[in-house]
Amino acid sequence: MSDGIKQAVIESLKQIKGPDLEGNIVSLGLVSDVFVSDGRVAFSITVPAARAQELEPLRQAAEKVVREVDGVENAMVALTAERAPGAARNTAPPPKPAPRPAQRAPEEQAAAKPGVPGIKHIIAVASGKGGVGKSTTTANLALGMAANGLKVGVLDADIYGPSVPRLFNVSGRPETVSGRVLKPLEGYGIKVMSMGFMVEEETPMIWRGPMVISALTQMLREVAWGDLDVLVVDMPPGTGDAQLTMAQQVPLAGAVIVSTPQDLALIDARKGLNMFKRVDVPVLGIIENMSYFLCPDCGSRHDIFGHGGARAEAERLGVPFLGEIPLTMKIRETSDAGTPIVVSDPEGPVAEIYKTIAGQVVAAIESAATSPDRAAPKIVFD
Ligand code: ADP
Repeated sequence: MSDGIKQAVIESLKQIKGPDLEGNIVSLGLVSDVFVSDGRVAFSITVPAARAQELEPLRQAAEKVVREVDGVENAMVALTAERAPGAARNTAPPPKPAPRPAQRAPEEQAAAKPGVPGIKHIIAVASGKGGVGKSTTTANLALGMAANGLKVGVLDADIYGPSVPRLFNVSGRPETVSGRVLKPLEGYGIKVMSMGFMVEEETPMIWRGPMVISALTQMLREVAWGDLDVLVVDMPPGTGDAQLTMAQQVPLAGAVIVSTPQDLALIDARKGLNMFKRVDVPVLGIIENMSYFLCPDCGSRHDIFGHGGARAEAERLGVPFLGEIPLTMKIRETSDAGTPIVVSDPEGPVAEIYKTIAGQVVAAIESAATSPDRAAPKIVFD
């Protein structure tokens, strides 16, 4: 049923001409995946950032035709910016109809992702599925990098369950500093922006999807991050279209994959790896979380989960293995209380593990940045 509506929606969108009144937005590849649920439809249209305002009528026209489709009760269309203003200065002939973003050639993606001034490196922390401890790892890694003397920010792009506000014990709406530019909140010396500050908690997931890219772009480019050595992006779990689009939109220096030792999670981790390969983002390595049980009483280590799977898998795939984090009640309690273990027990053995892994990640970023593959500028012909 919803598949039929989806097709009818796409069909109806073929009436809408492209930004330059040539072709239509479907054939130009500007329409994102279309979400349909209970008669509600949501999707986004990619436009150049500088023309977003001018193209508002295009957005409204798309919304209008979709609302007229049989079976559609409501439609929400968001404009998403593909390039930052100025980045698209293009003296080449008009671009050919673009393929869907997910199928673009890597060179084109590189051109579509200008860096963020002031931020040296942006890395993603990702996982093939939820619940493996990705956000907990993101927070403690960021704090571990800060403990190693770096200036660090965290961007929480997890639409499904933004947990960074809780982990850093920060909440509220960010202040506007000038125009649309927002001031990040701060927790334990880390600058923090979260999807959770931008989208009401009650907003149904179905609406969040298409909002994501515009919110992500805003959180990345219209936030007064100041000078940062590393911005760590907490990605939504999984490897679907939303994740792929995000990985494409953010100028990532690399990605870290968090996995648990269980086989299933490793299969998901492999999908994560492939996703970053598809968008030409180097995988900095895999971290095995909940790797072994650390006994709270005696401090001894118990390998009860068949740990080591991630290390073996990393070796097999030729990806660095960044380290193992134990399963301990203390990690859970401190994360859930908004006092991550790297700040609440900075000299303890678990904090040491995070700090060491943070050091490994930073070393991996530096080596990815200087590897011959990355250093050679790519020449792009539109
Ligand atoms: P994800 O971001 O992958 O969904 P979270 O970071 O939110 O996962 O973690 C899920 C739950 O597991 C949280 O309650 C968190 O405190 C807990 N957790 C994460 N890592 C560990 C660990 N190494 N030991 C114990 N609990 C952990």
